[in-house]
Parts: sequence; C-alpha cells; structure tokens
Amino acid sequence: MDIQRIEEMPHIERDGGSMPCLGLGTFQNSGEECRRSVATALDVGYRHVDTARMYENEQSVGAGIKDSSVSREDIFLTSKLAMGSLDRKGVHSSCDKSLQCLDTAYLDLLLIHWPEEDTPLEETLEAMADLKSAGKIRHIGVSNFTVSWLERLLAVSDESIFCNQIEYHPYLDQSAPIGFCDEHGIAVVAYSPLARGKVMKDDRLTTIGAKYGKSAVQVALRWLLGQAGVAAIPKGRSEDHIRENIDIFDFDLNEEDLKEISALEHDQRLIDPDWAPEWDEPR
Ligand code: NAP
Repeated sequence: MDIQRIEEMPHIERDGGSMPCLGLGTFQNSGEECRRSVATALDVGYRHVDTARMYENEQSVGAGIKDSSVSREDIFLTSKLAMGSLDRKGVHSSCDKSLQCLDTAYLDLLLIHWPEEDTPLEETLEAMADLKSAGKIRHIGVSNFTVSWLERLLAVSDESIFCNQIEYHPYLDQSAPIGFCDEHGIAVVAYSPLARGKVMKDDRLTTIGAKYGKSAVQVALRWLLGQAGVAAIPKGRSEDHIRENIDIFDFDLNEEDLKEISALEHDQRLIDPDWAPEWDEPR
C-alpha cells in the first residue's frame, strides 16, 4: 500500500461525509477481472469505488474489496438504483440486492442512476431517506440529472444531495449542471472522464503532459480534479492503467495549459441513450 498516495488524495466534504476525489469506475468490467481490478486499485491507494445494479458486477466488486488489504470502513463505495425501480418497493429491493451482492452492511452513496418520469421524485427520495435512517446508506445522490431535474429534486425534498454524477471530460461543456451544483452545494462526479479512450489519442494533451512528465490521461484527470467540487471515476482494468490514473497528485497544470484544455471542442457527448433527459445547453 502506498501511504504517500493516500495522504495526497484530496477529498470532497458534503453532508457530513468525505469522498476521495478519485475513484475506480467499473462499467463493463465483470467477473474475475473486475475482482482483480478492485483489489489492485485498493492496494495501490484508491479508496473510492463506483458500481451500479445495472453493471451486474457488484458481486465481483464486493469480492475485490474482500481480497484487498483495505478495511470496508476506509472505502467510499457507491452504487446506483436499478432502472425502473424508483418506486418505494423498488428502491428498497434494489438497495437490498446491492448490499447482498457487495456483501456489505451499507453503501456510502446510493444514486438515482437516471431521472425517470414514471415515479414521483418525492416517493424515490422518501424511500432513499428511509434507507439512510436505517443505516443502509450514508448519502443520497443522483446521476445524469440536468438543471431542470435538479430543480425538481430540490423542490420536492429537503434531503441533502451529495452529488450529481455526470459525463464530464475535456470535450464536453457541462457548465450548466456544474454551475447549478456549485450554487447548491452538490458535488460533481465526472464519469467517462477519459472520454472512453479519446483522451489518450489526443496529441494536444500529450504535448501538454510532456512538460510535466505526464501522459494525456493524467493531464485530463488533473484538469478535472483541479476544479472545486469535482471528483472523477476513471475505469481501469489493468494494473498499469490503475496505477497511472492515480499518479496525478504531484503536479499542477499552469494557467496557460488549463486555458488550452478548457478551450478544446465542447460538444462530444458519448453517453446519450434513448432514455436520457433533454441535456442542458452550456451556460
Ligand atoms: P473512461 O473511464 O472515460 O474510459 C475507460 C477506457 O479508458 C477503458 O477503455 C480503459 O481501458 C481506458 N483507460 C483507463 N485508464 C487508461 C490509461 N491510463 N491509459 C490508457 N487507457 C486507459 O470511461 P467509462 O468507463 O465510461 O467511465 C468511467 C466510469 O464512470 C465507469 O466505469 C462507470 O463506473 C461510470 N459511468 C457512469 C455512468 C452513469 O450513467 N452514471 C455512465 C458511464 C460510466 P481498460 O478498461 O482496459 O483499463
């Protein structure tokens, strides 16, 4: 275990809890490979893991946690409600299944994976609040919420919303939801922070990275985590990727480089399924 990495890791504090800014994404990673990735990540200093009912890998994530040298209470573990399960009964059964598969007594964070029109938000939030009171989850959050969905959420519930997990990388302008989250004390967790592979092929980021002895991937992650209230959850399967993605806390991008990255193209949304809400225009 690399103590220095753990000490360097910034955290985001919300709702009485503390989330490490860098987490391990696990979408499309399953079985033994997922188990190994999670154990490796924890052993090299990650303390935040992201999964979801939809990924069908919670059992492997739970096994990876057990294989690692890290205690459960030192890990920030996020899962997401199954889609189509946002009514009271669905919320309880989805969370119970997550706990059972992950073989854990609680989740640090449970997210509404996508906004859904079928169930009133009040009902979902009340059920999530009950889970919190029962000690099954520590914090409530959302994912893929636009400004109008966030407004609806805040209008129907006084529950503290820990974060909004959204697609965010150097090729997508998310100024609208990020600005709203910032104004309302909601953290942002950047998913697909490496633009699902595009970042590593970008000569502009590679050139910037060369000045610091870092890769394009590390530059993209540093750019994201340099923004107040923003965390990122890059997926990494191999040990090399997992190690490279956490080796980013020993340099800072200068103003000129930050500006250059912020000026890259802004309209490359990669995750846009049929059930997605109408996305925000940039601010
Ligand atoms: P990503 O993290 O942007 O990119 C993952 C890709 O980058 C994989 O092909 C990975 O390869 C590769 N990679 C990772 N580190 C690398 C490195 N150092 N050098 C070169 N290549 C590297 O994409 P993502 O998986 O879509 O997003 C990350 C996580 O966000 C997901 O795993 C999931 O937990 C979460 N997510 C949430 C939602 C949502 O709706 N809430 C949607 C999408 C994703 P290997 O796999 O071979 O290491």
